Amino acid sequence: MRNIDHWINGKLHPSKSGNFAPVYNPATGEQQAQVGLASAEEVEFAIASAKAVSQMWRATSISKRAEIMFRFRELVVQNRDHIANLVSIEHGKVPSDAAGELARGIENIEFACSIPALLKGGYSEQVSTGVDVYSIRQPLGVVAGITPFNFPAMVPMWMFANAIATGNAFVLKPSEKDPSVALYLAELLQKAGLPDGVFTVLQGDKIAVDGLLAHPDVAAISFVGSTPIAKYIYSTGTANGKRVQALGGAKNHMVVLPDADINMAADAAVSAGFGSAGERCMAISVVVAVGGVGDKLIEAIKERLPKLITGPGTDPNAEMGPLITREHRDKVASYISGAAAEGATVVVDGRENNLPAEGFFLAPTLMDNVSPGMKVYDDEIFGPVLSVTRVETYDDAVELINNHQYGNGTAIFTRDGGAARQFQFDIQVGMVGINVPIPVPVGYYSFGGWKASLFGDVAMYGPAGIDFYTHTKTVTSRWPDPSTSSVDLGFPLTR
Ligand code: NAD
Repeated sequence: MRNIDHWINGKLHPSKSGNFAPVYNPATGEQQAQVGLASAEEVEFAIASAKAVSQMWRATSISKRAEIMFRFRELVVQNRDHIANLVSIEHGKVPSDAAGELARGIENIEFACSIPALLKGGYSEQVSTGVDVYSIRQPLGVVAGITPFNFPAMVPMWMFANAIATGNAFVLKPSEKDPSVALYLAELLQKAGLPDGVFTVLQGDKIAVDGLLAHPDVAAISFVGSTPIAKYIYSTGTANGKRVQALGGAKNHMVVLPDADINMAADAAVSAGFGSAGERCMAISVVVAVGGVGDKLIEAIKERLPKLITGPGTDPNAEMGPLITREHRDKVASYISGAAAEGATVVVDGRENNLPAEGFFLAPTLMDNVSPGMKVYDDEIFGPVLSVTRVETYDDAVELINNHQYGNGTAIFTRDGGAARQFQFDIQVGMVGINVPIPVPVGYYSFGGWKASLFGDVAMYGPAGIDFYTHTKTVTSRWPDPSTSSVDLGFPLTR
């Protein structure tokens, strides 16, 4: 069995813990490798190697750091097909979805390339006689990122591009389900000129995570994953005195008002509901049909589903791949039978398909008459299941969404500018789309939900990322007026 190693101090380190997790090919169901899970000693070694270079990296000039980021960006672009393929083989998403993930990740590297401008402080001359005040930004030291399986290239880039550019050493603990792409990114960073030790990949499970959370040399933790773990990371990390940003799960609603363009809304619901097999924290999970729009909309979505080809990433025609594991596929499928028992109408059942039984496939499912109180509505499903909830009015739609525990993303489809404008103010959700179903902010804004979708108060990447990975220091300085100074400079100072 092929082993997947750590990347510490610029080279691969096989784990000596004796503990491994299987890495599957979700399209065939076969185990293709095993990843070594770090022991407490390996966590210690990884953090120590990051700490050993953190002062040197902090002292490296900003222009040198920017230069490395530019080179890294070029290497990622040159190797994008290879990276997309690595993602597809372990995650299962089709290469076009993997390429999309990469494009969004690259935005974060491009943002980090402008680090010379981003790290500028402020300066106020003469706030009082002879007194100036200015601010500087300094890196935190060693920071860590813990990432989910669903974006094994993009989510680490959300974190490490800014963390490294601001002068920190970064330890990445990727998902044990698709751990290889992180190692390839480590190689590219090295090729770009990043000194060894500044970027570490620590493979592991709870032991690795708990080691990072407890270690006094780790100054900050960035986390993206499910809500229960996000809560745990936030409470443990902050109790240990660290900065923590912890992004959790989601249940994203897409409101369709009666005046919306039905074809546009149906296309959006299908791509946002089933892209990456629904394993996206910004996937649309619930379509909220307002007024009389429900029947037309369901029909339009239903007629699109047979054209959406589910299959392995190796099939050039496939638009939707398998789910990450057999257990997850079975869990998602159990929501379909559960919803029918709770009174929802199963319009299209994704379990009824001819997909290869060995792979972790589930075809798209569409459900009508879904309402709060049903598990299929209340829970994050994280799979290709799209629910439709019918409400009478705009106010009902807003109330429905605001009452949900999650507040990651949402969207409204309408031709009415006034209604759209009102929606963006009324809705208690962090990212809002207006006729855009997946409003993931570009890399120079920041990404973050509300409520149970984010713990802590700092969003990820963009300007929030620069804030998160730097301390601000404010200096107040006083210098005596040189014309009254008792020290002889040897020449007159005139003003
Ligand atoms: P997960 O919470 O199971 O795992 C995320 C990370 O936490 C992994 O690295 C994993 O090894 C680690 N982990 C898992 N269990 C742990 C434990 N008990 N103790 C310590 N560490 C643990 O999430 P996942 O299944 O990999 O990813 C899917 C979830 O991530 C979904 O809920 C999705 O909504 C969420 N997600 C959110 C965002 C966002 O931006 N809000 C983005 C992507 C994914």
